Amino acid sequence: MTIGILGGGQLGYMLALAGYPLGLRFRFLDPSPEAPVGRIAQRVTADFDDQTALEKFASGLELVTYEFENVPVAATRFLSERVPVFPPPAALEVAQDRLKEKALFRKLGIATTEFAPVYNLKSLDAAVTAIGFPAVLKTSRFGYDGKGQWILRTAADVDKLKDEIADTFAKAPNMNGAHASHDSAPFILERFISFTRELSILGVRARNGDIVFYPLVQNRHHGGILRLSIAPAPSLAPDLQREAEDIACRILTELDYAGVLAIEFFDYQGRLVANEMAPRVHNSGHWTIEGAVTSQFENHLRAVLDLPLGSTKVYGFAAMLNLIGETPAGAEVLAIPGAHLHLYGKSPRPGRKLGHITLWSSSFEQLSASLRALPPFFHQPSFCLDKTYARASHPDFA
Ligand code: AMP
Repeated sequence: MTIGILGGGQLGYMLALAGYPLGLRFRFLDPSPEAPVGRIAQRVTADFDDQTALEKFASGLELVTYEFENVPVAATRFLSERVPVFPPPAALEVAQDRLKEKALFRKLGIATTEFAPVYNLKSLDAAVTAIGFPAVLKTSRFGYDGKGQWILRTAADVDKLKDEIADTFAKAPNMNGAHASHDSAPFILERFISFTRELSILGVRARNGDIVFYPLVQNRHHGGILRLSIAPAPSLAPDLQREAEDIACRILTELDYAGVLAIEFFDYQGRLVANEMAPRVHNSGHWTIEGAVTSQFENHLRAVLDLPLGSTKVYGFAAMLNLIGETPAGAEVLAIPGAHLHLYGKSPRPGRKLGHITLWSSSFEQLSASLRALPPFFHQPSFCLDKTYARASHPDFA
């Protein structure tokens, strides 16, 4: 049985690694000849909108899923006329547009930050008046890892930004294919909130409607990129987990979803404020490979294949650290008890996710000790190992 996957990055790589023990085969479609999955599976190298390549790709597949959020929705619709596609293309369509996403959250009674669509320079002023300072302007589509975002604290910031993005507004009607309409606009202005921490939940819904959840995870970002996840999130009130599961359940059911869905939240004044969702396996769930009975990757495959979902029971505590732009000496990492190294086989480039490490421990105290004992490579500010997890010699530790 061969599963087709759109996108051939590390998420696809880890899906395939989880699927081989289940007897599955994989075929990937990715525009880049360098896609890491080339080492371990069949790969079709073509653009996502190349219909001849899509036909060839779909031939003989059991189903198609995706690991990349910016796959054109039209490609998934084209494929769904030939072979089942999960998660449903409608979920992809919502997740690709921050305004549609927030509209869905609101419709389902899920708290979000205050927001306003921004169609042009004039409506930026109106949005600033409505939302107030501080605010963050984001591109509605194709922003990732904090790209396409501007924090606005004063009227002077707004004037400066207008100069910077005037050209973008001039081209806005066709920008990234997002036509200004009642439910979309090229930009969204959000209230910038001082949250206590960032959390995410992974929900899994099978084709038969069964749903399971992993525990909320605490995430730390640097430069807009996820650097550190701690699972389960420390000091988690049971109410918050219940609230997150309830929110995820509403979205999964509304979209008649199949597969893993990630939802990112701000923990704000003891409540969850939904920031965004990803209709795919997620970086904040990599710890499940070693830290849970069934990994997010295996459960995604089980869900889309309509197989029984696996237990999401967690063993102890896990920490995941992303390796961005450079990798440490593998032997130094593996010398730490409970450490696992995952390298994706990509050539190093600044800002590129090259791999991750997972540390596992039976208690949170031990996990913190393992984080503190990590080699100096990890104790640079970008790894976010401040305060609780800092090495004794680190200035923040005093
Ligand atoms: P996003 O692309 O929406 O995930 O934003 C990237 C990061 O910017 C988030 O993980 C937050 O750390 C921060 N951020 C985004 N939106 C807001 C907001 N409305 N208020 C405060 N911080 C935000």
